Amino acid sequence: MRHIAIIGSGPAGYYTAEAAQKQWGDGVRVDIFDLLPVPYGLIRTGVAPDHQSIKGVAKRYEGTALSENVRFVGNVTIGEDVSIAELQGLYDAVVLATGAPNDKPAGIPGEGLENVFGSAAFVGWYNGHPQFAKLSPDLSGRHAVVIGNGNVALDVARILSKTADEFHGSDIVAHALHALQKSHIEQITILGRRGPHQIAMTPKELGELGHLTRACPRVDPADLPAEEEDLFLEPGQRKSVTHLRSFAAIPEEFRCDKPVEIEFDFFASPRAILGDGTVSGIEIERTALDSEGRASGTGETYTIPCSLVVTAIGYKTSPIPGVPFEEGAGRFANDEGRILPGLYCVGWARRGPSGTIGTNRPDGFGVVEKIAEDLDSGALYHEVKQGRRGFDALAAERKLEVVTFRDWKKIEAEEEARARTGAPREKFVAVEDMIKARGE
Ligand code: NAP
Repeated sequence: MRHIAIIGSGPAGYYTAEAAQKQWGDGVRVDIFDLLPVPYGLIRTGVAPDHQSIKGVAKRYEGTALSENVRFVGNVTIGEDVSIAELQGLYDAVVLATGAPNDKPAGIPGEGLENVFGSAAFVGWYNGHPQFAKLSPDLSGRHAVVIGNGNVALDVARILSKTADEFHGSDIVAHALHALQKSHIEQITILGRRGPHQIAMTPKELGELGHLTRACPRVDPADLPAEEEDLFLEPGQRKSVTHLRSFAAIPEEFRCDKPVEIEFDFFASPRAILGDGTVSGIEIERTALDSEGRASGTGETYTIPCSLVVTAIGYKTSPIPGVPFEEGAGRFANDEGRILPGLYCVGWARRGPSGTIGTNRPDGFGVVEKIAEDLDSGALYHEVKQGRRGFDALAAERKLEVVTFRDWKKIEAEEEARARTGAPREKFVAVEDMIKARGE
């Protein structure tokens, strides 16, 4: 029997479990650990609440979760309740599928001012992550700045500009919906340190900005390269740039009909966030692309007054003491998923925060292939591991309040029962409430 522990129940974790099932069939037992009492990681608290079709992939993970040889072990914090070394003593392989839950710092003055948030925190707030549910961003000002030209910047800008009706069918949490309904934001500036050809936004997500009820995107035509240069872009990127071109062509009269403007400010690198206690503006340096395609400061600076800043410039994995880490890339140091004998990583924890949810499937299958190679070569065999029997004994000894998948199904039923009309669920945003909802 193979015993595998996976830390993290997001996409990378469940795809790895699925791969282990395919690899060893009934000859494997997989325990998927999560520090929250609820599964699915990024699907629950990262994917935008108005992108329910993407969240639908959780049904596939449920198929894996409900099989006999896979267990969900929720409400267990690795590193506090149990150490990596202890898990290594119990399981043949330990796979870190911990994602990249921390914001990459922008490294500029003023990041610590009030009403400046990293996107992990801001997205966690509107998605009901217990760690960020109490964030309470102040939306009473007129101007918000979102730093970054990726899909997360688009998510944040879109969520800030939608009407209550546009959240129909979403699972945005009640506290965020109420705050957004009272928002006074009329101007959202998306800062890109490079140009339209260098955006990391995908066409479908960018196109959504063109169909918002009360917000209109604005692109300065002067920022767009000559149209024939689009031919050198790969097809997806060309499609995204076509959206930017259509935004640039929106007539002024039409734009004025909508109360919220989402402005793309390209070649704009933030230099400092300004304010006395609370953010009041942002200082920006105009950039130009150097010969390597990098943003290079021109020396020209300007200031945008604003009352809310969200940095959406990428994420980092949480380091774990004793586990080799690549600080610059914000991920575990690994060779195709291998970190140390018996210790592996997968998904964003392996490759950094890039790609789509589906990218994690080949990643999961890849890491299981490495584990199988190592087990077959005898590289990992020191002793027969106890697997989940050993963990259960440890959990009982430490009186851990483990949440099972069956418990999660009760929590889920409670969340569905308390959903507002049209919404799939109203999430619990406090761990205690989740635990209470599972009953006895
Ligand atoms: P991302 O795609 O890596 O984009 C990060 C952006 O931040 C880039 O435009 C980057 O510019 C910019 N940036 C980085 N450091 C900066 C700095 N110091 N100052 C100014 N700008 C800076 O990251 P993300 O948006 O967080 O997305 C993470 C992953 O999740 C991506 O793979 C994304 O596609 C995926 N995602 C997908 C969806 C969806 O499919 N609906 C939704 C959300 C997220 P440079 O290019 O110049 O470095």
